[in-house]
Amino acid sequence: MNSSKRLMKHKISGLLVAVPFLVLMYAFAVHAADHIIDSHFHNANYAMQGVPLKEFIDKYMGDKIARSVVFPLPLQQKWDRFEGYAGDRMPPNYYLGPKAGMYYYSAIDTMTAMDFLKLSAADKARLDPMIVGFNPMDQYGVNHIKRMLILFPGVFSGIGEFSVHKELVGEKIDDDLTKANLGPGDTLPPDATDSTRNTLYNPSLKTIFDFAGEAGLMVCLHSDVYPAVVTHDGKVAGLSPEAPYTAGMKHLCTQSPKTTVYWAHTGLGRFVKPAPNHLRVVSEILDACPNWNVDLSWDLVQSYMVDPKPGMPSLDDWAGFIKKYQDRVLWGSDTVIFTRNQIDDKGNLIMGKEMSVADYLAVKEILKPLWEKVGPEVVNKVRYANHVRLFDAARMKVRAWEAAHAKDNVWNLPVSMQ
Ligand SMILES: [Zn+2]
Repeated sequence: MNSSKRLMKHKISGLLVAVPFLVLMYAFAVHAADHIIDSHFHNANYAMQGVPLKEFIDKYMGDKIARSVVFPLPLQQKWDRFEGYAGDRMPPNYYLGPKAGMYYYSAIDTMTAMDFLKLSAADKARLDPMIVGFNPMDQYGVNHIKRMLILFPGVFSGIGEFSVHKELVGEKIDDDLTKANLGPGDTLPPDATDSTRNTLYNPSLKTIFDFAGEAGLMVCLHSDVYPAVVTHDGKVAGLSPEAPYTAGMKHLCTQSPKTTVYWAHTGLGRFVKPAPNHLRVVSEILDACPNWNVDLSWDLVQSYMVDPKPGMPSLDDWAGFIKKYQDRVLWGSDTVIFTRNQIDDKGNLIMGKEMSVADYLAVKEILKPLWEKVGPEVVNKVRYANHVRLFDAARMKVRAWEAAHAKDNVWNLPVSMQ
């Protein structure tokens, strides 16, 4: 063996020692990082404006957030110049405000994947990217998910957040009305009205959920717990807390029982505020859906928990719920990292930009009163351990699916007729 070969051998054996050591050091550093995982984070907004993943890790997560989901918003808000939105002074980059519709922007998944593939192994381990750019009401939607896995192996842990029922968004999606294409004699599904585009009973959802179960993909589903009708500029035209979508949600989980789902914000949102029986409804759905979980995300929704208005479940009610379902609750910020274009009260134009690090990190403080009530063991499960268990299992299964399907032809995928 000549000296350069010997040196090489020495270097390699040095690496064999150093790499596991570095991984251990990394694991320790991440462990020390406040033990918080963000299970609900949007790396881009409704105009596909966001931050590079490397910047998200270095600047925003830093040593404060150990690991994070990354899912962009799947829907592009159309900028319709005929509308003259906001006096034509700024483009829309949020769904509330403009009348113009929204459409699924599939290329966003490629943007996320290509950005992710540039990261180091240690950085990759801190992110769980999700596929979002498919129409969940389209029987072909599942093929987009398969193509992303085949084209970008080693990237994705799940699908979503995607929406079925979401106030206003459901009406703004450029898609067929459910009733428009019903065959003769067919009736609308139980959760649909004349103006509905999205329904929990669309067979395409069974296809997508069944595939997620087969491939091991986590599913992050947004579906409001009860119907809300909201106009394009944010005026509430009707709320039906007395008629929750319980049956539709149970239908969805019982037809795809092996799929691991987390239901975003327990079905709450800006307009869908918790009804007095909210936790009873959520419990009923969780009890019927053993592989379903929920996330406590979105600062607005978190404020309903720590500062409930009359008629909403109390902080003690939430604490009791979380203790009972402590292995099935995740925490998330629901931050959209690129802010909205706005005109302020004085008429000044404020263009959206990357959110400040302080604003991003502030969200993790909101639920403090709740954490004090449930105790450190439950807090650790909700903010850390449940995510690790669910997403580590997903990563392993998805990598196995990708390996088994590496040679599948993305130009000619089998179609599902179920
Ligand atoms: Zn979200």
